[in-house]
Formats: sequence, structure tokens, C-alpha cells
Amino acid sequence: MIVRILLVEDDPSIAVSLVDSLHASGFQVVQCATGVSALVAALAPGEFDLVLLDLGLPDMDGRDVCRVLRSTSRVPIIMLTARGDEFDRVLGLELGADDYVTKPFSFRELVARIRAVVRRTEVQTPVSHPDTDITSGRLEPVSAPERLSVDQRTRRAHLDGVEIQLTAKEFDLLAFLAADPGAVRTRTDILEHVWDANWFGPTKTVDAHVAALRKKLGDPRWVEAVRGVGFRLEEPS
Ligand code: CA
Repeated sequence: MIVRILLVEDDPSIAVSLVDSLHASGFQVVQCATGVSALVAALAPGEFDLVLLDLGLPDMDGRDVCRVLRSTSRVPIIMLTARGDEFDRVLGLELGADDYVTKPFSFRELVARIRAVVRRTEVQTPVSHPDTDITSGRLEPVSAPERLSVDQRTRRAHLDGVEIQLTAKEFDLLAFLAADPGAVRTRTDILEHVWDANWFGPTKTVDAHVAALRKKLGDPRWVEAVRGVGFRLEEPS
């Protein structure tokens, strides 16, 4: 089954690449940039299998879009929130969102959430219950190498059971690399996901944070530089 997604996102720098990536992953995507157009599109019955809903829209609060949508439709909703948004995950789930991801997120993580939500709604027809969803562990720690655990929910990282004290950006960087251990992340990827899609600053910022992260991990080999490409996370052997 081809999953048809309505992407409600007003930031073109995010929307364009997200639409491309979702297409490339085999999804059908329609994008709109306002809450009103989202409601018009989403309320047409049976049009979409899932709504990706940005919280900060120009004309409406994403929460209100969610509430209105949920009052008339059972279409699964994943909210896209930005760090710093005043968003309470329990409130979000009470509004009827099925899940949410915080920007910056990895595309891989988003696709995993989409598939999980679609699978859940295929199995259970009734609207999902927030309580069971929370305890079923939708926010599992990312699959980092065994010695390293990175918990995005609590934003804490442990190495060999000992917590590593990280700054917010160091944590984001580690979480991004740890989301796909061994995979090479380019500087551009890192800048887009950890900083901002509109970042135009020097890419040396990445190197500085990598250096700090290596120091805190106690072994530079944790973050391997791939010459001319970027970095990957690998457990030192
Ligand atoms: Ca926005």
C-alpha cells in the first residue's frame, strides 16, 4: 500500500527537502503551508493516510489544526515541533496527535515513526490511547552502539553506564550520529539536522563540536572523520 501523506509545513527549506525525501522513500506527498489549507485538504474523506503537522504555522497554531482535524477525522497525525516550542508531549497526545518528532530530526527517524503510526492504525481501528502509546515506548532510545546509550526523551547520554555531560548541541550531534551508527553523515547533513536548515555559518562549527564530543567520549575514535565527506560514529575497537 502506498502511504499518502499530507505535509503541513510553512518553512520551504524544510518542506522542499522533506517532500523530495518522502517521495524517494516511496510515499505520496502533498504539501501545504497553512493551517486553513491543511484542514481543507485533510477533511476531504479518505484522501490521506497520515498528516505531518508543523506546530508553528503562519495562520493557525498547529495544536488547533490538530484539534479540529481530530474532531472530525481519524487520520493519524504526527506533529513536527521545534525545540523551544512550548509543546507538552502529553498535551499533544491528548489533542489527538499519534506521535510527534522534534526538529531537528533525522529523516530515518521520521520514516520509522511514520511506518509505526501507519502500522498501528492499520491494526487498531479506534483512535489510539495516549496512555498505552506512552508506555509502549514510542520514544525508545536510538540504537547506539552497546556501550553508548543516547536517550532522546531525557536528552541524556551514558557511556559504560556513566552519564556524559554534554551541551545541547553536543547532545544533538551525538544523537544524530548515533541514530545510524557507522553511517557517514556529511557536514551539510549535520548542519541541517543539528543546527538549522538555514544555517549559513562556517562548517568549522561542526569540527569544533566534534572535537568537544570526542574529548567527552574519552576516545577520538568514537567519531571518525571521513576525509572530504563528514563523520561517522563507531565504537572504538
Ligand atoms: Ca513552521
